[in-house]
Amino acid sequence: MRKALILLSGGMDSATLLWLAKRDFEKVFAISFDYGQRHKVELKYARELAEIAGVEDHIVVEVPHYRSIKGSALIDEKVEVPSEDYPEDEPPITTVPMRNLNFLAIAGAFADALEIEHIGIGVHALDTPYPDCRPEFITSAESAINAGSVLTAKKKVRIHVWAPFLGMTKRDIAMLGKELGVPYDKTYSCYRGTEPPCGECPTCRQREEALEAIRSA
Ligand SMILES: [Zn+2]
Repeated sequence: MRKALILLSGGMDSATLLWLAKRDFEKVFAISFDYGQRHKVELKYARELAEIAGVEDHIVVEVPHYRSIKGSALIDEKVEVPSEDYPEDEPPITTVPMRNLNFLAIAGAFADALEIEHIGIGVHALDTPYPDCRPEFITSAESAINAGSVLTAKKKVRIHVWAPFLGMTKRDIAMLGKELGVPYDKTYSCYRGTEPPCGECPTCRQREEALEAIRSA
């Protein structure tokens, strides 16, 4: 049976991935992380999305050590989320060090124990300045998961890190989501964590551009 475990933040990209997984896999699970993020409100949206999607299980994991790491605008309350665009060639201030390595390691543990052979992550081309969103990171993480997997060792089953949006733009993803019927009104993207969303941070603006693209398509 084809099974997938989807990293679900509550934002547009991971919601689209969840709906794509619903189309392409027989059993779909979701996993979300409470890592002390400024926009912790996203977890409320993740829970609702998981429920609407009808996942087998929605695992919510606490990742407390990020509370002791300083310098990232997403986890250090003294660092503000900027209004200006993120730089194109270096990690933005919103980078959370090794976030995807931590998340994939935890998801890998659940996948291994539950014998789920696909772990889905919604990273995409626009994310490139985040070091742990680059294709070489995804490939390396997959190698490490398989090298350490009981499932692989015992049953020769490979665990795939499924990142189908790697070469796509946010607009491409939104167009796909429109086809899949993703309820974008139930997603949340703002890095400032306000309700309603601030509408000013780069993540809010990127979201609005993508939604505008599908409205005018
Ligand atoms: Zn915002």
